Amino acid sequence: TTKASAAAQPLINADELIGSVETFIFDCDGVIWKGDKLIDGVPQTLDMLRSRGKRLVFVTNNSTKSRKQYGKKFESLGLDVSEEEIFASSFAAAAYLKSIDFPKDKKASNNLFYFLQWGFVYVVGEDGILKELELAGFQYLGGPEDGGKKIELKPGFLMEHDKDVGAVVVGFDRYFNYYKVQYGTLCIRENPGCLFIATNRDAVTHLTDAQEWAGGGSMVGAFVGSTQREPLVVGKPSTFMMDYLANKFGILKSQICMVGDRLDTDILFGQNGGCKTLLVLSGADMIECSVCHSKISANNNNSKAVVRAYDRHRSDVSS
Ligand code: PLP
Ligand code: CA
Repeated sequence: TTKASAAAQPLINADELIGSVETFIFDCDGVIWKGDKLIDGVPQTLDMLRSRGKRLVFVTNNSTKSRKQYGKKFESLGLDVSEEEIFASSFAAAAYLKSIDFPKDKKASNNLFYFLQWGFVYVVGEDGILKELELAGFQYLGGPEDGGKKIELKPGFLMEHDKDVGAVVVGFDRYFNYYKVQYGTLCIRENPGCLFIATNRDAVTHLTDAQEWAGGGSMVGAFVGSTQREPLVVGKPSTFMMDYLANKFGILKSQICMVGDRLDTDILFGQNGGCKTLLVLSGADMIECSVCHSKISANNNNSKAVVRAYDRHRSDVSS
């Protein structure tokens, strides 16, 4: 589909679509697997696309694992996917920090970004982010173990923070707490040069299939509330990862098809990049209207019917 109109576009057949692009970017949860369960038909589809010479890339907003850890997950599901083909938002955070052009001469600039070279990244998130930062050569503070201790707030108590924190990275964190928010807020508010980076802003996630759970957007939202600053998002739907992939592989974005189960992350990611997009209905059971946020059931194996329902809804909302 294209940006202008999802359903007004004639639906092309699979053969035509495959022939028209050289790279397929797959979202992971809801497309390749659901939790720890492989989705039916995936191995056959990946084999068929590889046999037709297509490049396959896997992108996930889930920052809790590193590329290496995802490599193991693919392997455990019997899928032959290498680490180099996997791009998680944990990796994107490290890649973004690495892409910043730091002033080389410490004395030449008082630009606070340079502290990142000698200073720290404060992480609100889980192991995946820590592992990727380590691999990229960054020192960090925080992580899942940080800030769990209860602080006694006696009169005059002052939380100290490291003035050498040059970036705060916020991702999904099941060990999230108030003291982490205070620490990261001090880093951001007291240092105007401190970067505020979010791995992703997914509103909800599917930790179990029984219900929707608060997603990475809930942690990021806490920092937006306290700092009154907007984060730089490195995961879907921001353009960072798409630009990174296009550069890395030397591919034209018009030669990419983005395959996903969510309109507000995956399909928007593809559209923001000017790629072709393909919505699958194997994942998120609901698709959310990006204008009014009401939900449309996608729990229906007929993708044309869902796209039509979504399109009807969008034209009602905009009229
Ligand atoms: N963030 C978390 C914590 C998740 O558990 C998930 C899905 O399992 C996601 C994000 C979304 O992942 P994906 O982009 O692969 O759909
Ligand atoms: Ca997904």
